[in-house]
Amino acid sequence: MKIFAIGAHPDDVEIGCGGLLSIDWLSKHILHLSNGETSKYADGETRKEEAEAAARVLNAQVQFFDIPGRQIDDDDSACLRLVALIREIRPDYLVSHWELDGHPDHQAAHQLVRKAFFLSGASVDVDAPPWRCRNLLYFHPFNSGYGFIPDFVLDITAVYPSKLKAIRCHRSQTSFIVPQVEAVSRYFGQNSGVARAEPFKAEMPLVIGSRGLLDLEGGGDG
Ligand SMILES: [Zn+2]
Repeated sequence: MKIFAIGAHPDDVEIGCGGLLSIDWLSKHILHLSNGETSKYADGETRKEEAEAAARVLNAQVQFFDIPGRQIDDDDSACLRLVALIREIRPDYLVSHWELDGHPDHQAAHQLVRKAFFLSGASVDVDAPPWRCRNLLYFHPFNSGYGFIPDFVLDITAVYPSKLKAIRCHRSQTSFIVPQVEAVSRYFGQNSGVARAEPFKAEMPLVIGSRGLLDLEGGGDG
């Protein structure tokens, strides 16, 4: 199964879905729309090097669109560029930002990815056959406010060390990232009866076959 995770800045996907990206039997692709040069703590080249190191930890292919920060947009050129990449990678699932987010780049990334998710399966002027992903999953880098109530949580207890290792590759950012990741994963884990969990929303209803019911686990104390 192939996962294609798309973030506005280097570190967004590692924070939001680094547990999912740590599952070793998945094929994983990461796209950072900008290189994070608007960071107060590091320049764009440093942040790209950090992102490449994180991708090696996750055993994921990584690419950058090099869109300048604050200029991410769902205009036709950016959207068709992303549609072409989706059709080239042909992922089962796209994963990206939830729409309600205080950071304007995160909001813009959500709009761009959601548009490309639909257009990749439609008739548009891209020189590659249409590809329809099964679903578009959403994360929130910090789940801070904005009513992010997950549609499901992923038990990441077993892969949490890998997620943390990938996040720590972002050396210029880790001082404030790691405590938040610790808190969020424990919060959603405790609410679900596991040690660590990663919360997600989904664009479309998740389909669970009858055999999949056997894998469902009850959460909390009932
Ligand atoms: Zn970000």
